[in-house]
This record gives sequence, C-alpha cells and structure tokens, in this order.
Amino acid sequence: MVEINKAKIFKCGVSFLIGLVFYLLCYQILFAQSASVSGTSILTRDPLNASFVIDIDDQITPQEVRFFYKILNPYGDISGDGIAEINRSSDLTYQAVFAMEMISADRYIPVGSHLLVHWEIYKKDGENITTEEERLVFLDGRYEWQSFSEDRFSVYWYGSKNDDAMRSFLAMKSAILETEALLKTNIEYPVKLIVWRSPREGELAQRPRSAVYDSSVTTEGQRVAPDLIFAFQPAVGVVRHEAAHLVTKVAGDGPFTRVPAWLDEGTAVYMQGNLGPYKGAVQRAITSDKTLNLRSLTAPSNDPNLVNLFYGQSWSTVDYLISQNGEELFAELFASIKAGNPIDDALNKIYGFDTNELYNQWRNENGLESIIFSSISTSNNAISVPVATRVPLSIPTQVNIAPRSGTNNPAQVDLPERSNTEQTRDELESNSIQSVGLIIIITTVVLSLFLVILGVLIWKWPSKKKQT
Ligand SMILES: [Zn+2]
Repeated sequence: MVEINKAKIFKCGVSFLIGLVFYLLCYQILFAQSASVSGTSILTRDPLNASFVIDIDDQITPQEVRFFYKILNPYGDISGDGIAEINRSSDLTYQAVFAMEMISADRYIPVGSHLLVHWEIYKKDGENITTEEERLVFLDGRYEWQSFSEDRFSVYWYGSKNDDAMRSFLAMKSAILETEALLKTNIEYPVKLIVWRSPREGELAQRPRSAVYDSSVTTEGQRVAPDLIFAFQPAVGVVRHEAAHLVTKVAGDGPFTRVPAWLDEGTAVYMQGNLGPYKGAVQRAITSDKTLNLRSLTAPSNDPNLVNLFYGQSWSTVDYLISQNGEELFAELFASIKAGNPIDDALNKIYGFDTNELYNQWRNENGLESIIFSSISTSNNAISVPVATRVPLSIPTQVNIAPRSGTNNPAQVDLPERSNTEQTRDELESNSIQSVGLIIIITTVVLSLFLVILGVLIWKWPSKKKQT
C-alpha cells in the first residue's frame, strides 16, 4: 500500500516537473523569438520605390538576410527574392532593408498591390531563421491612407473627404454589378479602387505612357491590374468607367484572344453614365463625315486629337449594337471572343455580320453612306487609340537588390509614415519554426530522460532499504 502510493507520488512529481520545464522552455523561447525580429514595414517616399524593413534583435547576429515576396494577382502571382542590406541601427538592433523599384520603364507594381512577404535570416553560427509570412498592401507613402471594404469591394483614399470616397465606392460597386449583369459574368476575386484627390497628385502612380500623350491628355482613371483600378479624382463617371473594365476583361479576354479596343472602351463608356465630351466629338465627326474606320480602332494610339472621337465612336457603336440586337447577344459576343474567336468570327457567329458591315450599318444609322472596303487602304484611315487601361499587369521577376551599404539607410533619411495599413500581420513571431521546434524537442527529451532516471533512482533507493 505504502509502496504504491510512493510510486504514484514519484511518478506524478516527475510528470509535473517535466511539464513545468517544457512549459517554461516554450514560453521562454517563444517570448525571446517574438521579441527578436519585428514585423515588416514598408517605407515609401513616393510610389516609385519602396523599402521593406525589419528590425533584428542583437541576440541574433545576422550574416545575411534575404527577402522573399509574392505580388498577388488573380491571373498569377509574381514572386521574387533578393539580399537585403543589413544596418546596425542601434546598440541593440540590426535593421535589414530590401529596396525595391516599384515603377520604372520596365516594371510596374501598382499602388494598392497586395504582397505576401517573409524573410530568411542566416546567422553567424550557421543557423537560419525564417519569419512567418505577412500580407502587406503597398500604398503611396506621400499620403495617409484610409480604407473601407464590403463584400468583395474595397476602396482606399486619403484626405478628409470621406463622403467622396464612399460615393466612389458605391459607384464602383454598382458599375460592377450592372456590367456583370449586362455581360452575364462574375468577377470571382476581390477588387480594389484607389482614389486620388487630383490627376496631379496621382501622376507618379500612373502606369507610364508616352510623353506625347501625357502632355496633352489628362488621365482620369486606369485599370492597372485585373483586380485594381485607379481614379485620379473622386468622380463617379471615371470610377464607373474603370470598374466596367474590370468586368469586360473577365467577360471577354481569353487565353488567346482579347476584346478589341473599340468594344472594351465602348462598353466602359456605355456603363459610365455621363458621356462628357465623347458624345459631342462623335456627333461632330458624323456631321463632317470624318468618322473613323471601326476596324482601325484596335491599336494603341498616342494622338490626343483623336482620343475623344475614339471613345465617342466606340460608345456609339456599342450603343447601336445593344439597341438594335439586345443585351443577350451582346453578352454572347463577349463570351464568343473569350472562347477564342477573333472579333470578325465572333460578330459573324452572333450577329451574322463582320466589323466592316457593322461599321456600315452604324454609318447608315447615322445618315452616312456605306463604304466599299475593298477600295480603301486601311492604313489611310488607321488610327491608334489609348489603351492604357487594357495592358495586363506584367512585372519582371528579377528585382533590384538593396543598394550597397551607405547609399540608402532608411533609419537615417526622413521617410514618411509606414504605409502598410494592411492588417493581417498580428505581430509576427518571426523566426524559424523549424529551429525553435528542434530546440524544444531536444531539450525536452534530454531533460525528461534526466528526470525519469532521477525519479527511478530516488524511488528504488527506499524500497531496497525496506527489503533488506
Ligand atoms: Zn477605358
């Protein structure tokens, strides 16, 4: 009886001690780890460049730090990595900085992009630490951003005009829902709208286009990614136009085919509501019989003089197609292009006429005579049109690594506030889960063995004494 109780007590004691040691060990290690590497900050002076920064505690002496990122895109994420610059920011911390070019001649990572990032820290003792993945949003560091989300729609804005932002949000939402209904399709991913106060304030964030075009045409909005639109002023028409572009892409762009510019822009203007100067431009062209060959409205242009006419005539053609043949067939036209049919095949299949015939029908509808196409050189009348909103997001996978020591130390320069307002990073308890786990397991096993042996020895000693 006494023997059994004693054995139980010893076993309980040993178990308790093992548990206590394990708990203290975990607590100590996790506490130390979470304090040793900070969460990632994005520092930006403007939308052209961003520095991703972490602070590393002195206990970890970093030999090399590597930054890994994934730019999220519904049509395929873009990944990359590079070596960060390590600075000694104070007696107690190191700072790792990865400088990334966001907008340049051959690279465009738009403001509003979401990124998944993590770091690998290679220590001098040969061990390495991998931080937990964080989700960040890249915003223009010149402004203090606010955001609002509902269902699959989000808006980002700055400044005090919250009502304007909400109006823009509702304009985006209604335009998307209406265009989805028109084209009988759905955007399956969340979408974001970034609103600037003026074209001037948003200029640096624009997708670059030609100088000729820039100098004479004010860009009011852009679709910069399949899930991301810009409005360079909080105007309902601009937002609705760009929001419609998000849907036309889903409805009509296939793996091998794209919606022609006149159909894409015509639909966006059709959905924007207020036609602005476009209606006047097309009416003047009709009056003077200077309309544009519909077939020529497919290539990029930098001629600002033709911009309003291009939008106006594209809208008028879309309006004609829908009013004459109904919404059902219009949705089928998009579906047919998405399925891989070039525009003429799709038009023929759905309506029974091609682009030239459509142009002539539209001319007749507006009191102009038909054109005999065989006698016309298409190059005569060919114009190119602005299609900045149609270019797909393309980002080279190679990135610049951080500048060499001393050329850019964010700890010392006057950078604006952190711009990563996105939430999901609840305190990163960074660091390598593998190495932490390994330490816990080895130490626990060693300590447990030691305690078990100790317990057995203590237990056996009085028993032997009794037997003798
Ligand atoms: Zn457009």
